[in-house]
Amino acid sequence: MSSPPAADVTAGLAARLTDVVGPAHVLVDPELRAPFETDWTRRFGGPALLVVRPGSTAEVADVVRACAGAGVGVVAQGGNTGLVGGGVPPSPGRSPVIVLSTVRLTGLEPVDNAAAQVTAGAGVSLARLHAAAAAAGLAFPVDLAARDTATVGGMVATNAGGVHVMRYGSMRAQVVGAEAVLADGSVLSRLSGLVKDNTGYDLSQLLVGSEGTLGIVTAVRLRLVAAQPERVVALLGVDSTAAALALIDVLRRRVEGLEAAELFFDEGLALVREHGRLAAPLPRAFRAYLVVECGGLADPSESLFEVLAELDVPEAATAVATDRAGRASLWAYRERHTEAISALGVPHKLDVTLPQARLAEFEAAVRAVVAETAPGSTLVLFGHAGDGNLHVNVVGPPPEDETVDEAVLRLVAALSGSISAEHGIGRAKTRWLELSRTAAELTAMRAVKAALDPAGVLNPGVIFERV
Ligand SMILES: Cc1cc2nc3c(=O)[nH]c(=O)nc-3n(C[C@H](O)[C@H](O)[C@H](O)COP(=O)(O)OP(=O)(O)OC[C@H]3O[C@@H](n4cnc5c(N)ncnc54)[C@H](O)[C@@H]3O)c2cc1C
Repeated sequence: MSSPPAADVTAGLAARLTDVVGPAHVLVDPELRAPFETDWTRRFGGPALLVVRPGSTAEVADVVRACAGAGVGVVAQGGNTGLVGGGVPPSPGRSPVIVLSTVRLTGLEPVDNAAAQVTAGAGVSLARLHAAAAAAGLAFPVDLAARDTATVGGMVATNAGGVHVMRYGSMRAQVVGAEAVLADGSVLSRLSGLVKDNTGYDLSQLLVGSEGTLGIVTAVRLRLVAAQPERVVALLGVDSTAAALALIDVLRRRVEGLEAAELFFDEGLALVREHGRLAAPLPRAFRAYLVVECGGLADPSESLFEVLAELDVPEAATAVATDRAGRASLWAYRERHTEAISALGVPHKLDVTLPQARLAEFEAAVRAVVAETAPGSTLVLFGHAGDGNLHVNVVGPPPEDETVDEAVLRLVAALSGSISAEHGIGRAKTRWLELSRTAAELTAMRAVKAALDPAGVLNPGVIFERV
Protein backbone atom coordinates (compact mmCIF):
# COMPACT_ATOMS: atom_id res chain seq x y z
CA MET A 1 0.00 0.00 0.00
CA SER A 2 1.45 3.38 -0.90
CA SER A 3 0.80 7.06 -0.20
CA PRO A 4 -2.23 8.23 1.82
CA PRO A 5 -5.38 8.74 -0.21
CA ALA A 6 -6.81 12.19 -0.78
CA ALA A 7 -9.88 13.21 1.22
CA ASP A 8 -12.04 12.45 -1.78
CA VAL A 9 -10.85 8.82 -1.72
CA THR A 10 -12.13 8.58 1.87
CA ALA A 11 -15.42 10.20 0.93
CA GLY A 12 -15.77 7.94 -2.10
CA LEU A 13 -15.00 4.84 -0.02
CA ALA A 14 -17.45 5.92 2.69
CA ALA A 15 -20.16 6.34 0.06
CA ARG A 16 -19.38 2.95 -1.48
CA LEU A 17 -19.39 1.21 1.93
CA THR A 18 -22.61 2.97 2.91
CA ASP A 19 -24.21 1.31 -0.11
CA VAL A 20 -23.02 -2.04 1.23
CA VAL A 21 -23.83 -1.85 4.97
CA GLY A 22 -26.12 1.18 5.35
CA PRO A 23 -25.30 4.59 6.83
CA ALA A 24 -25.61 3.50 10.49
CA HIS A 25 -22.65 1.17 10.11
CA VAL A 26 -20.06 3.43 8.50
CA LEU A 27 -18.44 5.55 11.23
CA VAL A 28 -16.49 8.52 9.93
CA ASP A 29 -16.90 10.91 12.87
CA PRO A 30 -13.63 10.95 14.90
CA GLU A 31 -15.48 10.56 18.21
CA LEU A 32 -17.29 7.45 16.99
CA ARG A 33 -14.06 6.02 15.56
CA ALA A 34 -11.99 6.66 18.68
CA PRO A 35 -12.78 3.45 20.65
CA PHE A 36 -11.73 1.38 17.62
CA GLU A 37 -8.44 3.25 17.14
CA THR A 38 -6.62 2.50 20.40
CA ASP A 39 -5.87 -0.94 21.76
CA TRP A 40 -6.65 -2.36 25.23
CA THR A 41 -3.17 -1.55 26.56
CA ARG A 42 -3.35 2.09 25.30
CA ARG A 43 0.16 1.52 23.89
CA PHE A 44 -0.81 0.99 20.23
CA GLY A 45 -3.12 2.66 17.75
CA GLY A 46 -3.58 5.29 15.08
CA PRO A 47 -6.18 6.87 12.82
CA ALA A 48 -8.57 4.87 10.62
CA LEU A 49 -10.19 6.50 7.60
CA LEU A 50 -13.44 5.06 8.93
CA VAL A 51 -14.91 2.10 10.80
CA VAL A 52 -17.29 -0.25 9.04
CA ARG A 53 -19.58 -2.83 10.66
CA PRO A 54 -20.78 -5.38 8.09
CA GLY A 55 -23.65 -7.65 9.10
CA SER A 56 -22.98 -10.71 6.92
CA THR A 57 -20.24 -12.61 5.13
CA ALA A 58 -21.43 -11.19 1.79
CA GLU A 59 -21.13 -7.65 3.19
CA VAL A 60 -17.61 -8.40 4.50
CA ALA A 61 -16.65 -9.57 1.00
CA ASP A 62 -18.05 -6.38 -0.59
CA VAL A 63 -16.21 -4.23 1.97
CA VAL A 64 -12.90 -5.98 1.32
CA ARG A 65 -13.34 -5.68 -2.47
CA ALA A 66 -14.12 -1.96 -2.19
CA CYS A 67 -11.08 -1.34 0.02
CA ALA A 68 -8.77 -3.33 -2.22
CA GLY A 69 -10.05 -1.33 -5.19
CA ALA A 70 -9.37 1.95 -3.39
CA GLY A 71 -5.88 0.90 -2.26
CA VAL A 72 -6.90 1.03 1.40
CA GLY A 73 -5.91 -1.59 4.01
CA VAL A 74 -8.40 -3.49 6.18
CA VAL A 75 -7.79 -4.05 9.89
CA ALA A 76 -10.12 -6.71 11.30
CA GLN A 77 -11.27 -6.05 14.85
CA GLY A 78 -13.31 -8.22 17.20
CA GLY A 79 -13.50 -7.36 20.89
CA ASN A 80 -10.32 -5.24 20.79
CA THR A 81 -8.88 -7.10 23.79
CA GLY A 82 -5.73 -8.10 21.89
CA LEU A 83 -2.50 -7.14 23.64
CA VAL A 84 -0.05 -6.69 20.72
CA GLY A 85 -1.69 -3.89 18.72
CA GLY A 86 -2.81 -6.17 15.85
CA GLY A 87 -6.48 -5.13 15.87
CA VAL A 88 -5.96 -1.37 15.64
CA PRO A 89 -4.59 0.89 12.89
CA PRO A 90 -0.87 1.63 12.73
CA SER A 91 0.56 4.86 14.10
CA PRO A 92 -0.07 8.00 12.00
CA GLY A 93 1.81 8.31 8.72
CA ARG A 94 1.61 4.63 7.76
CA SER A 95 -0.58 3.11 5.00
CA PRO A 96 -4.21 4.25 5.11
CA VAL A 97 -6.58 1.70 6.65
CA ILE A 98 -10.14 1.22 7.74
CA VAL A 99 -11.24 -0.86 10.74
CA LEU A 100 -13.65 -3.69 9.90
CA SER A 101 -15.46 -4.47 13.12
CA THR A 102 -17.13 -7.86 13.51
CA VAL A 103 -19.56 -6.69 16.22
CA ARG A 104 -22.57 -7.52 14.04
CA LEU A 105 -21.45 -11.04 13.04
CA THR A 106 -23.12 -12.54 16.08
CA GLY A 107 -25.10 -15.46 14.67
CA LEU A 108 -24.87 -18.53 16.89
CA GLU A 109 -26.40 -21.76 15.57
CA PRO A 110 -27.98 -24.28 17.93
CA VAL A 111 -25.45 -26.73 19.38
CA ASP A 112 -25.09 -29.84 17.23
CA ASN A 113 -25.38 -32.42 20.01
CA ALA A 114 -24.71 -35.40 17.77
CA ALA A 115 -21.32 -34.01 16.74
CA ALA A 116 -20.65 -32.00 19.94
CA GLN A 117 -19.92 -28.95 17.79
CA VAL A 118 -21.29 -25.47 17.25
CA THR A 119 -21.04 -22.86 14.49
CA ALA A 120 -20.49 -19.33 15.77
CA GLY A 121 -20.25 -15.99 14.00
CA ALA A 122 -16.89 -14.24 14.34
CA GLY A 123 -18.36 -11.56 16.63
CA VAL A 124 -19.80 -13.97 19.23
CA SER A 125 -18.19 -13.35 22.62
CA LEU A 126 -16.46 -16.15 24.47
CA ALA A 127 -18.87 -15.77 27.42
CA ARG A 128 -21.87 -16.22 25.11
CA LEU A 129 -20.28 -19.31 23.57
CA HIS A 130 -19.65 -20.75 27.06
CA ALA A 131 -23.30 -20.15 28.00
CA ALA A 132 -24.61 -21.77 24.81
CA ALA A 133 -22.42 -24.84 25.27
CA ALA A 134 -23.42 -25.15 28.95
CA ALA A 135 -27.12 -24.92 28.07
CA ALA A 136 -26.59 -27.99 25.87
CA GLY A 137 -24.81 -29.89 28.66
CA LEU A 138 -21.42 -29.44 27.00
CA ALA A 139 -18.53 -27.01 27.42
CA PHE A 140 -16.27 -24.88 25.27
CA PRO A 141 -12.90 -25.50 26.91
CA VAL A 142 -10.89 -22.36 26.08
CA ASP A 143 -11.20 -19.73 28.80
CA LEU A 144 -9.54 -16.40 29.51
CA ALA A 145 -10.18 -13.36 31.68
CA ALA A 146 -11.38 -11.18 28.76
CA ARG A 147 -14.23 -13.66 28.14
CA ASP A 148 -17.04 -11.05 28.18
CA THR A 149 -15.51 -9.07 25.30
CA ALA A 150 -13.07 -11.27 23.35
CA THR A 151 -14.70 -12.73 20.23
CA VAL A 152 -14.51 -16.11 18.56
CA GLY A 153 -13.02 -14.51 15.41
CA GLY A 154 -10.32 -12.68 17.35
CA MET A 155 -9.53 -15.81 19.33
CA VAL A 156 -9.11 -17.86 16.15
CA ALA A 157 -7.03 -15.10 14.55
CA THR A 158 -4.67 -15.01 17.56
CA ASN A 159 -4.84 -18.74 18.37
CA ALA A 160 -5.77 -17.68 21.90
CA GLY A 161 -4.55 -19.88 24.74
CA GLY A 162 -5.87 -19.09 28.20
CA VAL A 163 -6.02 -21.08 31.38
CA HIS A 164 -7.04 -24.55 30.17
CA VAL A 165 -4.41 -25.22 27.50
CA MET A 166 -2.70 -27.90 29.59
CA ARG A 167 -5.80 -30.09 29.37
CA TYR A 168 -7.53 -29.08 26.14
CA GLY A 169 -5.01 -27.22 23.96
CA SER A 170 -5.37 -23.71 22.57
CA MET A 171 -7.93 -22.36 20.09
CA ARG A 172 -6.28 -24.27 17.24
CA ALA A 173 -7.27 -27.59 18.82
CA GLN A 174 -10.96 -26.58 18.92
CA VAL A 175 -11.32 -25.36 15.31
CA VAL A 176 -13.01 -27.93 13.06
CA GLY A 177 -13.57 -25.49 10.20
CA ALA A 178 -13.90 -21.82 9.34
CA GLU A 179 -15.48 -19.39 6.93
CA ALA A 180 -13.39 -16.43 5.80
CA VAL A 181 -13.17 -13.67 3.24
CA LEU A 182 -9.84 -13.42 1.42
CA ALA A 183 -8.13 -10.25 0.20
CA ASP A 184 -9.75 -10.49 -3.26
CA GLY A 185 -13.22 -10.80 -1.74
CA SER A 186 -13.57 -14.54 -2.38
CA VAL A 187 -15.16 -16.61 0.39
CA LEU A 188 -13.73 -19.84 1.80
CA SER A 189 -16.36 -21.83 3.68
CA ARG A 190 -15.62 -25.03 5.54
CA LEU A 191 -18.36 -25.28 8.17
CA SER A 192 -19.78 -28.77 7.62
CA GLY A 193 -18.08 -30.09 10.76
CA LEU A 194 -16.40 -33.14 9.24
CA VAL A 195 -13.94 -34.39 11.84
CA LYS A 196 -11.99 -36.33 9.23
CA ASP A 197 -11.35 -34.49 5.99
CA ASN A 198 -7.97 -35.10 4.40
CA THR A 199 -8.49 -33.40 1.08
CA GLY A 200 -5.36 -31.33 0.80
CA TYR A 201 -4.26 -28.19 2.65
CA ASP A 202 -6.21 -27.34 5.79
CA LEU A 203 -7.06 -23.71 5.01
CA SER A 204 -9.13 -23.28 8.18
CA GLN A 205 -6.09 -24.11 10.30
CA LEU A 206 -3.96 -21.76 8.19
CA LEU A 207 -6.19 -18.92 9.37
CA VAL A 208 -5.63 -19.85 13.04
CA GLY A 209 -2.97 -17.50 14.38
CA SER A 210 -2.85 -15.45 11.15
CA GLU A 211 -3.88 -12.27 13.02
CA GLY A 212 -6.12 -10.89 10.28
CA THR A 213 -3.33 -10.96 7.66
CA LEU A 214 -4.61 -13.82 5.45
CA GLY A 215 -8.41 -13.54 5.67
CA ILE A 216 -11.28 -12.05 7.65
CA VAL A 217 -12.86 -14.88 9.63
CA THR A 218 -16.64 -14.56 9.50
CA ALA A 219 -17.72 -17.81 11.22
CA VAL A 220 -16.14 -20.81 12.89
CA ARG A 221 -17.14 -24.42 13.49
CA LEU A 222 -15.91 -25.39 16.98
CA ARG A 223 -15.48 -28.61 18.88
CA LEU A 224 -17.19 -28.84 22.29
CA VAL A 225 -16.22 -31.16 25.15
CA ALA A 226 -18.07 -32.94 27.94
CA ALA A 227 -18.99 -30.57 30.77
CA GLN A 228 -16.99 -31.18 33.95
CA PRO A 229 -19.50 -29.97 36.54
CA GLU A 230 -17.62 -31.03 39.69
CA ARG A 231 -14.77 -28.63 40.25
CA VAL A 232 -12.16 -27.68 42.80
CA VAL A 233 -9.83 -24.69 42.85
CA ALA A 234 -6.82 -24.43 45.16
CA LEU A 235 -4.57 -21.44 45.74
CA LEU A 236 -1.21 -22.69 46.99
CA GLY A 237 1.67 -20.68 48.47
CA VAL A 238 5.21 -21.81 47.53
CA ASP A 239 8.71 -20.51 48.16
CA SER A 240 10.02 -20.31 44.59
CA THR A 241 9.27 -20.86 40.93
CA ALA A 242 11.23 -24.10 41.08
CA ALA A 243 8.96 -25.31 43.92
CA ALA A 244 5.86 -24.31 41.92
CA LEU A 245 7.08 -26.22 38.87
CA ALA A 246 7.94 -29.29 40.95
CA LEU A 247 4.40 -29.21 42.35
CA ILE A 248 2.87 -28.93 38.87
CA ASP A 249 4.96 -31.87 37.76
CA VAL A 250 3.46 -34.08 40.48
CA LEU A 251 -0.11 -32.75 40.07
CA ARG A 252 -0.01 -33.32 36.32
CA ARG A 253 0.76 -37.00 36.83
CA ARG A 254 -1.26 -37.76 39.95
CA VAL A 255 -4.39 -35.58 40.09
CA GLU A 256 -7.54 -36.27 38.14
CA GLY A 257 -8.81 -33.65 35.70
CA LEU A 258 -6.07 -31.04 36.18
CA GLU A 259 -7.11 -28.14 33.93
CA ALA A 260 -5.11 -25.13 35.07
CA ALA A 261 -1.87 -24.32 36.89
CA GLU A 262 -1.34 -20.57 37.03
CA LEU A 263 1.62 -18.83 38.65
CA PHE A 264 2.00 -15.38 40.17
CA PHE A 265 4.32 -13.72 42.66
CA ASP A 266 4.18 -11.67 45.83
CA GLU A 267 4.55 -8.33 43.98
CA GLY A 268 1.57 -9.16 41.73
CA LEU A 269 -0.54 -10.28 44.67
CA ALA A 270 0.17 -7.00 46.50
CA LEU A 271 -0.85 -5.02 43.40
CA VAL A 272 -4.05 -7.01 42.81
CA ARG A 273 -5.03 -6.79 46.47
CA GLU A 274 -4.57 -3.03 46.50
CA HIS A 275 -6.37 -2.55 43.18
CA GLY A 276 -9.29 -4.82 44.04
CA ARG A 277 -9.31 -4.20 47.83
CA LEU A 278 -9.01 -7.94 48.41
CA ALA A 279 -8.10 -9.68 51.66
CA ALA A 280 -4.97 -11.86 51.85
CA PRO A 281 -5.77 -15.31 50.43
CA LEU A 282 -3.56 -17.20 52.93
CA PRO A 283 -2.67 -16.67 56.62
CA ARG A 284 0.94 -15.89 55.75
CA ALA A 285 2.86 -14.49 52.77
CA PHE A 286 4.78 -16.61 50.24
CA ARG A 287 7.20 -15.75 47.43
CA ALA A 288 5.05 -17.34 44.74
CA TYR A 289 1.51 -18.67 44.34
CA LEU A 290 -0.17 -21.28 42.17
CA VAL A 291 -3.85 -21.42 41.31
CA VAL A 292 -4.78 -24.93 40.25
CA GLU A 293 -8.17 -26.12 39.04
CA CYS A 294 -9.45 -29.65 38.46
CA GLY A 295 -12.75 -30.60 36.83
CA GLY A 296 -14.55 -33.91 36.49
CA LEU A 297 -17.83 -35.77 36.38
CA ALA A 298 -17.08 -36.90 39.93
CA ASP A 299 -15.70 -34.58 42.62
CA PRO A 300 -11.94 -34.28 41.94
CA SER A 301 -11.13 -32.67 45.32
CA GLU A 302 -10.31 -35.94 47.14
CA SER A 303 -7.67 -36.77 44.56
CA LEU A 304 -6.17 -33.28 44.93
CA PHE A 305 -6.22 -33.33 48.76
CA GLU A 306 -4.58 -36.75 48.82
CA VAL A 307 -1.63 -35.59 46.75
CA LEU A 308 -1.25 -32.32 48.67
CA ALA A 309 -1.22 -34.30 51.95
CA GLU A 310 1.39 -36.71 50.60
CA LEU A 311 3.53 -33.76 49.55
CA ASP A 312 3.18 -32.24 53.04
CA VAL A 313 1.82 -28.94 51.69
CA PRO A 314 0.96 -27.13 54.96
CA GLU A 315 -2.57 -25.92 55.67
CA ALA A 316 -1.30 -22.34 55.96
CA ALA A 317 -0.23 -22.61 52.31
CA THR A 318 -3.56 -23.84 50.97
CA ALA A 319 -6.93 -22.20 50.26
CA VAL A 320 -9.54 -24.39 48.58
CA ALA A 321 -13.02 -23.84 47.14
CA THR A 322 -15.49 -26.11 45.40
CA ASP A 323 -18.53 -23.81 45.19
CA ARG A 324 -18.84 -21.35 42.28
CA ALA A 325 -18.45 -18.15 44.35
CA GLY A 326 -15.49 -19.49 46.30
CA ARG A 327 -13.75 -20.66 43.15
CA ALA A 328 -14.26 -17.26 41.52
CA SER A 329 -12.84 -15.46 44.54
CA LEU A 330 -9.65 -17.56 44.42
CA TRP A 331 -9.33 -17.06 40.65
CA ALA A 332 -9.66 -13.28 41.14
CA TYR A 333 -6.14 -13.11 42.63
CA ARG A 334 -4.76 -14.38 39.32
CA GLU A 335 -7.28 -13.04 36.80
CA ARG A 336 -7.20 -9.45 38.03
CA HIS A 337 -3.47 -9.07 37.35
CA THR A 338 -3.96 -7.65 33.82
CA GLU A 339 -6.34 -4.86 34.88
CA ALA A 340 -4.33 -4.06 38.04
CA ILE A 341 -1.14 -3.67 35.97
CA SER A 342 -2.90 -1.42 33.44
CA ALA A 343 -4.17 0.77 36.27
CA LEU A 344 -0.51 1.49 37.15
CA GLY A 345 0.30 2.87 33.70
CA VAL A 346 0.83 1.82 30.08
CA PRO A 347 2.59 -1.55 30.34
CA HIS A 348 5.19 -3.16 28.11
CA LYS A 349 3.60 -6.61 27.87
CA LEU A 350 5.85 -9.45 26.81
CA ASP A 351 4.03 -12.76 26.58
CA VAL A 352 6.70 -15.44 26.24
CA THR A 353 7.09 -19.17 26.52
CA LEU A 354 10.10 -21.16 27.68
CA PRO A 355 10.97 -24.83 27.72
CA GLN A 356 9.33 -25.97 30.98
CA ALA A 357 12.72 -27.00 32.39
CA ARG A 358 14.10 -23.46 31.96
CA LEU A 359 11.20 -21.44 33.37
CA ALA A 360 12.76 -20.98 36.83
CA GLU A 361 16.07 -19.93 35.29
CA PHE A 362 14.20 -17.41 33.11
CA GLU A 363 12.29 -15.98 36.07
CA ALA A 364 15.53 -15.15 37.89
CA ALA A 365 17.29 -13.87 34.75
CA VAL A 366 14.44 -11.65 33.56
CA ARG A 367 14.32 -9.86 36.91
CA ALA A 368 18.01 -8.99 36.50
CA VAL A 369 17.58 -7.94 32.85
CA VAL A 370 14.64 -5.64 33.63
CA ALA A 371 16.44 -4.10 36.63
CA GLU A 372 19.38 -3.34 34.35
CA THR A 373 17.53 -2.08 31.26
CA ALA A 374 14.57 -0.34 32.91
CA PRO A 375 15.82 0.79 36.32
CA GLY A 376 13.09 2.15 38.59
CA SER A 377 10.32 0.39 36.62
CA THR A 378 7.74 -1.97 38.12
CA LEU A 379 8.01 -5.59 36.98
CA VAL A 380 5.07 -7.96 37.42
CA LEU A 381 5.33 -11.58 36.29
CA PHE A 382 2.47 -14.04 36.06
CA GLY A 383 1.28 -16.67 33.66
CA HIS A 384 0.24 -20.10 32.60
CA ALA A 385 3.07 -22.02 34.26
CA GLY A 386 1.65 -25.39 33.22
CA ASP A 387 2.48 -24.41 29.61
CA GLY A 388 5.86 -22.73 30.28
CA ASN A 389 4.16 -19.38 29.52
CA LEU A 390 4.99 -16.26 31.53
CA HIS A 391 3.63 -12.74 31.01
CA VAL A 392 6.37 -10.19 31.64
CA ASN A 393 4.84 -6.79 32.41
CA VAL A 394 7.03 -3.72 32.79
CA VAL A 395 5.48 -0.39 33.77
CA GLY A 396 7.63 2.72 33.74
CA PRO A 397 9.47 3.11 30.42
CA PRO A 398 7.62 5.33 27.91
CA PRO A 399 5.52 3.31 25.41
CA GLU A 400 7.87 4.10 22.49
CA ASP A 401 11.07 3.12 24.37
CA GLU A 402 11.70 -0.51 23.38
CA THR A 403 14.97 -1.08 25.28
CA VAL A 404 13.43 -3.43 27.80
CA ASP A 405 11.36 -5.29 25.17
CA GLU A 406 14.52 -5.92 23.17
CA ALA A 407 16.49 -7.18 26.18
CA VAL A 408 13.73 -9.50 27.44
CA LEU A 409 12.99 -11.01 24.02
CA ARG A 410 16.68 -11.62 23.36
CA LEU A 411 16.91 -13.39 26.72
CA VAL A 412 13.94 -15.57 25.77
CA ALA A 413 15.57 -16.50 22.47
CA ALA A 414 18.87 -17.29 24.20
CA LEU A 415 16.99 -19.75 26.44
CA SER A 416 15.32 -21.42 23.41
CA GLY A 417 11.90 -19.92 24.11
CA SER A 418 9.33 -18.22 21.87
CA ILE A 419 8.83 -14.43 21.82
CA SER A 420 5.05 -14.95 21.68
CA ALA A 421 3.26 -17.68 23.57
CA GLU A 422 -0.37 -16.78 22.93
CA HIS A 423 -0.93 -13.08 22.16
CA GLY A 424 0.67 -13.11 18.70
CA ILE A 425 3.15 -10.79 16.97
CA GLY A 426 0.73 -7.98 16.09
CA ARG A 427 2.47 -4.66 15.58
CA ALA A 428 4.34 -4.98 18.88
CA LYS A 429 6.87 -7.66 18.01
CA THR A 430 7.40 -7.52 14.23
CA ARG A 431 11.02 -6.44 14.55
CA TRP A 432 11.88 -9.46 16.69
CA LEU A 433 10.06 -12.17 14.70
CA GLU A 434 13.39 -13.50 13.41
CA LEU A 435 14.37 -14.39 16.98
CA SER A 436 11.76 -17.17 16.93
CA ARG A 437 11.58 -18.11 13.24
CA THR A 438 14.29 -19.39 10.88
CA ALA A 439 15.07 -17.69 7.57
CA ALA A 440 13.44 -20.61 5.72
CA GLU A 441 10.27 -20.30 7.83
CA LEU A 442 10.08 -16.55 7.22
CA THR A 443 10.45 -17.07 3.48
CA ALA A 444 7.64 -19.65 3.46
CA MET A 445 5.40 -17.40 5.59
CA ARG A 446 6.00 -14.42 3.29
CA ALA A 447 5.22 -16.63 0.27
CA VAL A 448 1.87 -17.63 1.80
CA LYS A 449 1.03 -13.98 2.50
CA ALA A 450 2.08 -12.90 -0.99
CA ALA A 451 0.02 -15.67 -2.62
CA LEU A 452 -3.19 -14.87 -0.71
CA ASP A 453 -2.82 -11.11 -0.37
CA PRO A 454 -0.36 -9.84 -3.02
CA ALA A 455 -1.34 -6.17 -2.59
CA GLY A 456 -1.07 -6.29 1.21
CA VAL A 457 -4.70 -5.28 1.83
CA LEU A 458 -5.25 -7.28 5.04
CA ASN A 459 -3.75 -5.91 8.24
CA PRO A 460 -0.68 -4.24 6.70
CA GLY A 461 2.25 -4.08 9.13
CA VAL A 462 1.00 -6.93 11.34
CA ILE A 463 3.29 -9.98 11.77
CA PHE A 464 5.57 -8.54 9.05
CA GLU A 465 6.52 -4.87 9.09
CA ARG A 466 6.76 -5.18 5.30
CA VAL A 467 5.94 -8.19 3.12
C1 LIG B 1 -7.83 -9.15 30.78
C2 LIG B 1 -7.30 -9.88 29.58
C3 LIG B 1 -6.91 -11.21 29.72
C4 LIG B 1 -6.42 -11.91 28.61
N1 LIG B 1 -6.06 -13.21 28.77
C5 LIG B 1 -5.61 -13.91 27.71
C6 LIG B 1 -5.23 -15.28 27.84
O1 LIG B 1 -5.26 -15.84 28.93
N2 LIG B 1 -4.82 -15.94 26.74
C7 LIG B 1 -4.77 -15.33 25.49
O2 LIG B 1 -4.40 -15.99 24.52
N3 LIG B 1 -5.10 -14.03 25.35
C8 LIG B 1 -5.52 -13.31 26.41
N4 LIG B 1 -5.86 -11.99 26.26
C9 LIG B 1 -5.72 -11.36 24.94
C10 LIG B 1 -7.00 -11.35 24.07
O3 LIG B 1 -8.16 -11.50 24.84
C11 LIG B 1 -6.91 -12.44 23.01
O4 LIG B 1 -5.82 -12.17 22.13
C12 LIG B 1 -8.19 -12.58 22.16
O5 LIG B 1 -8.05 -13.69 21.33
C13 LIG B 1 -8.50 -11.35 21.32
O6 LIG B 1 -9.83 -11.43 20.85
P1 LIG B 1 -10.56 -10.12 20.33
O7 LIG B 1 -11.88 -10.49 19.79
O8 LIG B 1 -10.57 -9.08 21.38
O9 LIG B 1 -9.60 -9.71 19.13
P2 LIG B 1 -9.04 -8.26 18.73
O10 LIG B 1 -8.25 -7.67 19.84
O11 LIG B 1 -10.14 -7.43 18.19
O12 LIG B 1 -8.04 -8.66 17.52
C14 LIG B 1 -6.91 -9.46 17.80
C15 LIG B 1 -6.26 -9.86 16.46
O13 LIG B 1 -7.13 -10.69 15.72
C16 LIG B 1 -7.49 -10.09 14.48
N5 LIG B 1 -8.92 -10.36 14.27
C17 LIG B 1 -9.95 -10.07 15.12
N6 LIG B 1 -11.09 -10.54 14.61
C18 LIG B 1 -10.78 -11.14 13.44
C19 LIG B 1 -11.54 -11.80 12.43
N7 LIG B 1 -12.85 -11.98 12.53
N8 LIG B 1 -10.88 -12.28 11.34
C20 LIG B 1 -9.53 -12.14 11.20
N9 LIG B 1 -8.78 -11.49 12.11
C21 LIG B 1 -9.40 -11.01 13.21
C22 LIG B 1 -7.17 -8.61 14.64
O14 LIG B 1 -6.89 -8.01 13.40
C23 LIG B 1 -5.96 -8.68 15.54
O15 LIG B 1 -4.80 -8.97 14.80
C24 LIG B 1 -6.33 -11.26 27.35
C25 LIG B 1 -6.71 -9.92 27.22
C26 LIG B 1 -7.19 -9.23 28.32
C27 LIG B 1 -7.60 -7.81 28.13
